[in-house]
Amino acid sequence: MFEFVMTEEQKLLRDEAREMAKWVPREYILDMDADKIKYPKEYLQECGRRNLIGLRVPKEYGGRGLKWEDDIIALEELGVNGYIFVCTYGVTGDVVPEAIVHFGTEEQKKKYLPPICKAEKFAAECLTEPRGGSDFFGSTTMAVQDGSDFVLNGQKRFIVGGEGADYFLVYAKTNPEGGPANSMTCFMVEREMGVKTEYLYGLMGCRGGGTARVVFDNVRVPKENVIGEVNGAFPIFYQMMIPERFGTAAMTIGSVRPALEIATDYSMKRKAFGQTINNFQGVSFKIADAVIKLDTCRALMYSTARAVDTGADPSLCRRLVSEGKKFVTEQCWDVANLGMQVMGGIGYTDIYPLEKIVRDMRLSMIWVGSNEIMQLIVQHEWYTARKKELKNNSKRESEFDCISAFAEGEKIYE
Ligand SMILES: Cc1cc2nc3c(=O)[nH]c(=O)nc-3n(C[C@H](O)[C@H](O)[C@H](O)COP(=O)(O)OP(=O)(O)OC[C@H]3O[C@@H](n4cnc5c(N)ncnc54)[C@H](O)[C@@H]3O)c2cc1C
Repeated sequence: MFEFVMTEEQKLLRDEAREMAKWVPREYILDMDADKIKYPKEYLQECGRRNLIGLRVPKEYGGRGLKWEDDIIALEELGVNGYIFVCTYGVTGDVVPEAIVHFGTEEQKKKYLPPICKAEKFAAECLTEPRGGSDFFGSTTMAVQDGSDFVLNGQKRFIVGGEGADYFLVYAKTNPEGGPANSMTCFMVEREMGVKTEYLYGLMGCRGGGTARVVFDNVRVPKENVIGEVNGAFPIFYQMMIPERFGTAAMTIGSVRPALEIATDYSMKRKAFGQTINNFQGVSFKIADAVIKLDTCRALMYSTARAVDTGADPSLCRRLVSEGKKFVTEQCWDVANLGMQVMGGIGYTDIYPLEKIVRDMRLSMIWVGSNEIMQLIVQHEWYTARKKELKNNSKRESEFDCISAFAEGEKIYE
């Protein structure tokens, strides 16, 4: 934790989130991992009671009206209970409200945000389909207008809260002839409208979040439940990248932090060759690498939060959020494995939680947009920015700072 960058209010928020993390009984964590709990309603309800859900939601709708620079502090702390805890927390309180706050009508805000913030209702986001998640605009879930309703048909897969949630933010094709910019619409669908949960997945980790296939079979959704414009899901999707990917990155740091803490403590107690293993550089340098990785991740999170909070250029924000998701999740995966290596054989057993953390962390590089898709976005935004720089001729042309820069006939490009 970078306490030195925190205001007094942020330190208090950090402490509140820490208290919340301490509140969770260990049996609850074990029951989630054993799939005995299908969706952590009691956990979320406790977060709601403490007004910790919807930290960035404006106060008049039940949130705290905070910024990303605050939110990421809470996300790290809440992450320590386990990746899926903070994921369900983030989907219901950060991700789905983002669409409503930015694109919803006043009626939608009043109807949906307060019960979400109080954890009387839980929300899920439905993008991924059985045919694929990366090619988002290739969606085949269809919504056809019929009078004052849309009739929704299709399936979404791997939906956290598929079991357990009451509200589903669903993207569907409404103009199949259109391109990405005008073919899809975003809907707020209530379970009672007829959403069916058909299959709960057996997962390697991150269990207990109700990850399911949800089916829409002629579900009638009133047109008042369109979020934003009809055929206007494109800007919503772009906005949602921030809580999905940036939020995920921030929570990943917290979810892996116990691996470093447990391995550090173990290395100071466990003896080999007559001394504690932290005296071997082969061990303590692994701890050092893990510390460096987490601190670097935090630095990237804090600077990205500043960029988003201060309304920096959207292209830059997209790049920072995407590079953050890829960079942080890969560093955290390394941290989990470094921790396990320090523990030796006992790290591979359920005597310590390292094996669970490794199982959980593996997902981080796949979900909310795989890390390959993050690379796709980063390179796109980077090339766009670089072309602009070249056009503006605003920087030194470093290419010529070498002896033979002007050698005849050597700079061949075709
Ligand atoms: C436990 C869990 C929870 C999830 N929760 C949710 C949720 O709540 N809501 C939701 O909507 N989704 C959710 N997802 C879905 C997740 O976001 C997707 O799995 C992810 O986006 C990848 O989509 P896919 O699985 O269909 O893989 P595919 O899109 O089929 O991709 C397969 C592989 O091809 C690569 N690939 C695809 N296209 C390209 C390209 N252009 N360039 C380079 N590589 C490419 C991918 O990186 C990946 O490695 C969840 C998934 C899991 C496992």
